[in-house]
Amino acid sequence: MVRVTSNELLSTTARASTSSVIRDLLRLVDEPGMLSLAGGLPAGEMIPTDRLSSAAASVLQRDRLRPLQYSPSEGMVELRASVARRYGKSRLEAGDFMITTGSQQGIDLLMRTLVDTGDAVVMSSPSYLGAIQAARASGARLVGVPCDDDGLDVEMLASFLRDGLRPKAVYVVTDFANPDGATLTSDRRRMLAGLADRYGFVVIEDNPYGELRWGGDQPEPMWTLTDMAATVGSASKILSPGLRIGWLSAPPWLFSAVARLKQATDLHTSSLDQLIAAEVLDDSAFLSQHLTAVRATYEYRAGVLVDALRHEFGDDLTVREPDGGMFVWATLAGGASTADLFERAIECQVAFVPGAAFSVASESAANDPVATDAGSSMRLCFTTLAERDLREAAARLAAAHRSRSHRV
Ligand code: PMP
Repeated sequence: MVRVTSNELLSTTARASTSSVIRDLLRLVDEPGMLSLAGGLPAGEMIPTDRLSSAAASVLQRDRLRPLQYSPSEGMVELRASVARRYGKSRLEAGDFMITTGSQQGIDLLMRTLVDTGDAVVMSSPSYLGAIQAARASGARLVGVPCDDDGLDVEMLASFLRDGLRPKAVYVVTDFANPDGATLTSDRRRMLAGLADRYGFVVIEDNPYGELRWGGDQPEPMWTLTDMAATVGSASKILSPGLRIGWLSAPPWLFSAVARLKQATDLHTSSLDQLIAAEVLDDSAFLSQHLTAVRATYEYRAGVLVDALRHEFGDDLTVREPDGGMFVWATLAGGASTADLFERAIECQVAFVPGAAFSVASESAANDPVATDAGSSMRLCFTTLAERDLREAAARLAAAHRSRSHRV
């Protein structure tokens, strides 16, 4: 018998892939008594279980075989049409959307369709971990560009491009980003669109949180500003992540290549899940009431957490107040490390995700200002805890911070 080690059989990509820090953390925070601000889950009570189960029953009764049969790789007509309707009076129609198994699959397919090993992909830093993993798995060379309150620093991207960087794609979460809650401003969107047209890269616009807006104005989506944008969306944050329903739209040359890869990947997204999602998304009376309730709950919880953090930490913490989404991004004064704070926080039974977990090194990693800033920041998810627990979590976090300051 030939003896081989797993390393000889595993591909370079498989060997290089790492487990998501967050998934590892989530295991830790399941312990009894722990107050977790670490997850990125929608509130359980905001998942419309009754409406989803009535939709499941009616789809199975009405359509009999369709939910249980194979269906087209690009998605079922009903859902493609309901998604197109959610994009309002835009030029996008049902045929411009592909249904994906969560938006995660959309990101993965786009990366794999665009990237050859070693190609540069620009990611905002900090960035969504699932996108970092997908980009790495595609063999991309990741180039981080910092973010601030206004989202990706597009000026810095422009300077990288002037210096010769030629990325295949720029990945950005445009609205209420995971992890840092920031929204890319209108001016920066226009500038990014101009750069995409000029240098010929695809803007991967990931926007699962856009419909969770409770304040401020919605800037134009990237796909309205350039033909070089591919946009991915999701039902996970508005209905249920377990449904695994996402969608993508891309310029025709890219759309057809992604569709071929989708076919090879999973043939199609679950027919049953698609029909359930279509029925609920098309129930506009229900949906608008549901979304109003989700936004109100999240606005309230975000406000409670921000107030409690400001009260507990005073000047020791800068808190970015969101007007949508699921996350508060907070930064310790004086460059103190949140990775250090994390260990004490776990002892005090409160969890969060240290900002360093989301960093993407820039071209000039040696003096990367992003890494330093993310190192003293943390992502706090406010969706799943009720008011009392949010206040208690902030108090425990501050106690962990104080005890750490005394130890040093
Ligand atoms: N993009 C972002 C920014 C996310 O935060 C998430 C989930 N946390 C996803 C994509 C993937 O979501 P899904 O696959 O459930 O649509």
